[in-house]
Amino acid sequence: MNIKQKNQARITELKKLIDSANYAYYTLDKPDISDAIYDSLYRELIKLEKDYPHLKTEDSPTNRLGGEISKGFSKIIHKIPLYSLDNAFNLNELHEWISRLKKLINKKENQSLDQNFLVAELKIDGNAIALRYENGILTKAATRGDGKKGEDITNNVRRIKSIPLKLRIKQPPQWLEIRGEAFIPKKTFQKINEDKKINNEQLFANPRNACAGSLRQLDPKVVARRGLEFFAYQVYFPDNFQLDKIYLNHWERLKFLNNCGFRINKNSRIIKNEKELNKYCNYWEKERSSIGYETDGIVIKINNINLQNSLGFTQKAPRWAIALKFPAEEIATKINSLSFQVGRSGSITPVANFEPVKLAGTTVSRATLHNADRFKELNIHTHDTIIVRKAGEIIPEVVKVIKELRIEEAEKIDFPKVCPSCGNLLEKNISEAATKCININCDSIQIALIKHWASKGALNIDGLGHKMIEQLFESGLIKNVADLYTLNMQKLIEIERMGEKSIIKLLEAIDNSKNRLWHQKLYALGINMVGQVTAKNICNNYANINELIATIRNEPKDLNQINGIGIEIVESLKKWFYDKNNLKLINDLNERGFQFYNKNLFNKKTNDPYNPNIRNKNFVITGTMKKFTRDEMIYEIENFGGNVKNTLSKNTDFLVVGEKAGSKFNKAKEIGTKIIYESDLINLLTLKNK
Ligand code: NAD
Repeated sequence: MNIKQKNQARITELKKLIDSANYAYYTLDKPDISDAIYDSLYRELIKLEKDYPHLKTEDSPTNRLGGEISKGFSKIIHKIPLYSLDNAFNLNELHEWISRLKKLINKKENQSLDQNFLVAELKIDGNAIALRYENGILTKAATRGDGKKGEDITNNVRRIKSIPLKLRIKQPPQWLEIRGEAFIPKKTFQKINEDKKINNEQLFANPRNACAGSLRQLDPKVVARRGLEFFAYQVYFPDNFQLDKIYLNHWERLKFLNNCGFRINKNSRIIKNEKELNKYCNYWEKERSSIGYETDGIVIKINNINLQNSLGFTQKAPRWAIALKFPAEEIATKINSLSFQVGRSGSITPVANFEPVKLAGTTVSRATLHNADRFKELNIHTHDTIIVRKAGEIIPEVVKVIKELRIEEAEKIDFPKVCPSCGNLLEKNISEAATKCININCDSIQIALIKHWASKGALNIDGLGHKMIEQLFESGLIKNVADLYTLNMQKLIEIERMGEKSIIKLLEAIDNSKNRLWHQKLYALGINMVGQVTAKNICNNYANINELIATIRNEPKDLNQINGIGIEIVESLKKWFYDKNNLKLINDLNERGFQFYNKNLFNKKTNDPYNPNIRNKNFVITGTMKKFTRDEMIYEIENFGGNVKNTLSKNTDFLVVGEKAGSKFNKAKEIGTKIIYESDLINLLTLKNK
């Protein structure tokens, strides 16, 4: 297939997929793909049609608006069409739209814009409704349908309480056409789905689909029960209606709607400049979850109605408005290649490399497929279109392959049989999802272990980032973590781009890592299943690594007495500490001055690594101290086997109070937590109160 044929095939596939998604969404009210994926496929089609205009056909979904009219409802021809909105997917695109608009307005009107030229509103994720009032009485209500004709849902709409049956204004015009969004609040939606669950009915995918389904109910009583609400956002007056001057801007029209008895959205704002616009958009991107209804973006509209009229409409949307969509947490993209990463435990993680996409605010081009089982399930082929998700802080993952978009010459990608780094045969344990390289000397495993050792959660070695570790490894200066403590100026000066100052800093940071806490050091070893909490629990029970090794060898059952330590963790510890390579590593580290116990920094007199006043006790700290910084205080408490938590609870043993203590002080009094001061803590640390 040549490029032209490829693009043609892709366009045909995309059209088919979008058409079927439209049908599921608009006609059946049962979407089978998420909005974010729909948007990304739709955008891809628009781009292809723009790049290859001769491939665009009349029947393309990009020419169409909305869905088909359902059976069971009569049609209403919209006297004024109902349009969709063009989209911007980030602030840059939004500002580009404003610049284009400004140029267009200057050309057309030969005038500059006034200060209040934009209005920003939340984009309510519901369904557009057109309402017709004749002499102030609601006579017709319709869905958007395909924009030119919609479904007659008058009887249902009469059941929505926030839609007045009679306008609250004196001398209403002969007719008024009002547009707005019907929606179902989040809490009501949850309740609807809970009831559906109890009755074993199919659940609604989201509040927007629940709303669409409700508006199309044949029984208006059901609509009344569903608790729909409505925000009005647009009004059309008859041409011959004597308009007050103030109604020549959108903002005043919103107030008019409010006076008529409609709810308008209180979060709408007049926007004076682009800085204000950015502030509004950034604010709502963060705060949208705090309101009681779904919003999927912000609609920005030109305030001046004359300007709106002169800008007019494209085939599908007004030129005077745009929707800024909130960043998607899910998106479709095309795979470029797959790589297989070797982790510190030897686990092989398949990683997809794809065309870069903006996801939850950042550009991503790689996402994990987790493990061999998931890889098999996804059945990825070359050139596949995949769906990538990133929610919150979670690393991006591949969630789905769109099989409908697989091209003919696509080839299945196989999971490797040997380690991509050292070539050793890979092993798969039936009880584990992971496929592993078990060669402890595998370069990739050692590099991953060193990266973990230096990472923030472990020993937090400043200046020892991933690139530096790879460089040191490749130059042969280090082969494992113990080698870090053999580095010196002479060796490092050979490394490209390293000046004396940065070498001194790095060596200091490496040396300082010897002072980390015992549980941080145990965690840093990267033993399978020994995370930060487990490491802490272990270290609160064994004073040093020798005690731990002795228990593992002689009384491994004792380990099970420790909170959170089950058979699997004990097995993992046994496996690690019976391995000769690992024992040699501990030995090498010891010889190089790296010890696995808590150095008792504060109380040099006592050799007891655990202080019964502190050990296993829970502390919360509030306010500023005179002697210790907060970090030092945490270090000292943890050093003696205590825990420092952020929030007060019934399990808190001590609240340590400094100057300018916060609300925790009062709460501690309320719930009866023991309150101590810095000097009391020092007494506890030095065993004076024993
Ligand atoms: P849209 O929802 O992106 O934007 C237009 C609509 O915004 C208007 O019709 C109006 O109802 C609404 N709106 C909300 N608040 C508004 C306000 N303050 N001012 C003006 N309008 C406001 O466009 P659309 O054409 O209704 O639908 C397209 C979108 O629907 C797609 O981007 C996609 O997210 C979704 N969709 C999803 C699927 C799927 O399969 N998941 C299929 C088809 C469409």
